[in-house]
Amino acid sequence: MPGCTLLTDKEDVAPYECDGLAAYRQLPLGVVLPESEAQVQGGLRLCAHHGIPVVPRGAGSGLSGGAMPLREGVVLSLARMRKIINVDPYARTATLQPGVRNLAISEAASPYGLYYAPDPSSQIACTIGGNVAENSDGVHCLKYGLTVNNVVRVRAVTMDGEICEFGSPGLDLRAVLIGSEGMFAIVTEVTVRLIPKPQVAQVVRRVSMMSKSEVRLWQRSLQAGSSRRDLKCSIAPQRKL
Ligand SMILES: Cc1cc2nc3c(=O)[nH]c(=O)nc-3n(C[C@H](O)[C@H](O)[C@H](O)COP(=O)(O)OP(=O)(O)OC[C@H]3O[C@@H](n4cnc5c(N)ncnc54)[C@H](O)[C@@H]3O)c2cc1C
Repeated sequence: MPGCTLLTDKEDVAPYECDGLAAYRQLPLGVVLPESEAQVQGGLRLCAHHGIPVVPRGAGSGLSGGAMPLREGVVLSLARMRKIINVDPYARTATLQPGVRNLAISEAASPYGLYYAPDPSSQIACTIGGNVAENSDGVHCLKYGLTVNNVVRVRAVTMDGEICEFGSPGLDLRAVLIGSEGMFAIVTEVTVRLIPKPQVAQVVRRVSMMSKSEVRLWQRSLQAGSSRRDLKCSIAPQRKL
């Protein structure tokens, strides 16, 4: 894999021995850090040829052990593929490499009055590739849906090195890939939907004290675009800092 960084020393691969589920740890055989889709493809072909298991990794913030290495396998870290390829304010989309941090998408879209809705609490660190693999959610997903509802197109490389696109004309197989935890293919490019930033933001309190049916009613009202007065919950005045 020309131009591709490969880590094999114990002290170099140690940071990759677990993800957010730190109770489980395993040192990998090596860590590969590609910088392009061609390098991802080359690496996967090589590993498939030699029967070496591959575990993709974004920021390693997952809490389910999905990015934990296998003893005889390599970790394919997408952390160096962090280019924001394009922000299109007219189409309201952004095209990204998989290692772009979730929050960086909204930061790049902000000058156009747009943002990316799915906002996991880990958004300062987690990557869009990891979000796609985990179908991640966040507070805004109550109104705007999960990652699967906000991704327009995904480009990925299968474990034997074939490049494919999900969401392009033809069969729409996005939902097969999104949430598949890196089992089907390595995400190499993602196009996401951007939405206009709200003109006003308010703090809502006591949501946890609502019954399930009240939460559902509230969610439906939000999705229908109801005003604050329609919502059956109390809204705290914004605190002056
Ligand atoms: C403090 C904290 C708060 C969190 N809050 C939330 C939350 O609000 N909502 C939520 O949904 N999650 C949350 N999480 C979990 C985690 O941040 C998300 O699942 C996130 O999407 C993982 O992204 P990552 O880049 O860290 O992926 P990683 O942890 O590196 O990997 C996660 C999975 O995706 C696979 N993967 C990574 N990159 C790729 C790729 N390019 N192609 C294919 N597969 C890939 C990995 O193999 C693994 O199975 C939180 C975690 C922490 C630590």
